[in-house]
Amino acid sequence: MTHDLASIKKEHTMTAANDLAQVAKERGIRYFMVSFTDLFGYQRAKLVPATAIADIQKDGAGFAGFATWFDMTPAHPDMLGMPDPTGLIQLPWKPEVAWVPADCVMEGKPVAQAPRVVLKDVVARAAQKGVRVKTGVECEFFLISPDGKLLADEHDTASKPCYDQLAITRRYDLISEICDYMYQLGWEPYQNDHEDANGQFEMNWIFDDAVLTADRHAFFKYMVRALAEKHGMRATFMPKPFPTLTGNGCHAHISGWDVATGKTNNFYDESDEIGLSKVGYNFLGGIMQHAEALAAITNPTVNSYKRINAPRTASGATWSPNSVTWTGNNRTHMVRVPGKGRFELRLPDGAANPYLMQAIIVAAGVDGIERNAHPGKRLDIDMYQEGHTVKDAPKLPLNLLDAIRAFDKDTTLKQALGNEFSSAYIKLKNSEWNSFATHFTQWERDHTLDI
Ligand SMILES: [Mg+2]
Repeated sequence: MTHDLASIKKEHTMTAANDLAQVAKERGIRYFMVSFTDLFGYQRAKLVPATAIADIQKDGAGFAGFATWFDMTPAHPDMLGMPDPTGLIQLPWKPEVAWVPADCVMEGKPVAQAPRVVLKDVVARAAQKGVRVKTGVECEFFLISPDGKLLADEHDTASKPCYDQLAITRRYDLISEICDYMYQLGWEPYQNDHEDANGQFEMNWIFDDAVLTADRHAFFKYMVRALAEKHGMRATFMPKPFPTLTGNGCHAHISGWDVATGKTNNFYDESDEIGLSKVGYNFLGGIMQHAEALAAITNPTVNSYKRINAPRTASGATWSPNSVTWTGNNRTHMVRVPGKGRFELRLPDGAANPYLMQAIIVAAGVDGIERNAHPGKRLDIDMYQEGHTVKDAPKLPLNLLDAIRAFDKDTTLKQALGNEFSSAYIKLKNSEWNSFATHFTQWERDHTLDI
């Protein structure tokens, strides 16, 4: 591990700006939400009064790892969440509370299966190899009724609802509130839209370094859900909450910059036909070659596989891939190159863990650079219409079990994310699959009763 406790402590070193007790006084913070994200992407927190934050900053907030989605037992010692002041976000809708991401530590060592620790490790090793990945994420979500059964807006019924002006107007109070907050936080939001499914929205802010984007992504999901509740609704990022509607994607726009300044995009090459440099193609090659294993992280739930490999939805297209193919500016493939110097990975869905998703993208891409990987032939066809003519492209996993098995076989990615993390993840995801497999469905009755 490149990222040991000493380096975590060094990063969190107390300076005037990082002294949380001092920050609390200056900014009127009464409580800190000391937060970490577990293996399944759930955010866990302790709400610490400002009067106690100095001790927590020094010693960490205690958690029982077994009580969350980690591969731990009730006998494990306390897992300590060490708040990282550089990631602090004061809740714009309740400024007396500040969210602060934590790096998990146990018995003096970083918890190697903790997603934020995994990401920081991968990013540190990529930097040693001269790669500084920046990403933007496009988070899609539905606004639904508090009981989770219906769309929040009963009038949102158009057969092609994408960019529906009236439907987004009905949600103006909530969407503009979130967008204003992103602006206040310095995220540089630039557009919001009604997406392709009834009741579905997407909000975009500017791309940045992988760890920063992951923190913002985690906070964004928390903010959207908390504010939707405040407005009497519920927000869901579930990959496919409604069988006939387009699912929630989480497309990632990826570029690689110089490590020292982060000002030169090394994926950019003006002279290339679609504007990608050799290192950009190699990074993309890594993504393509590891795609089936990638899905175990970017599409981490049973439900994820109802979004990819889906039949056509009510709007006319699923907008999600089913094969490992790439192209220029064409949304029917797994990877699209929409502009020079970056590409869009359309595989991840709304359930993707913000930290693990970035970690596996960086790990796969860096491996591609190291092995001089070629992304394969660019396919400039409509995959929804002509996909059946492509015989040699691998299919994406058909279900979570296939994806976990593909990840388990991918020793390069398992090592890059750390063997302790990888075996913990595979173990918990296998037990999730086994839990699903014991679920008795109506489909079985309908297709088997009279056999
Ligand atoms: Mg979208």
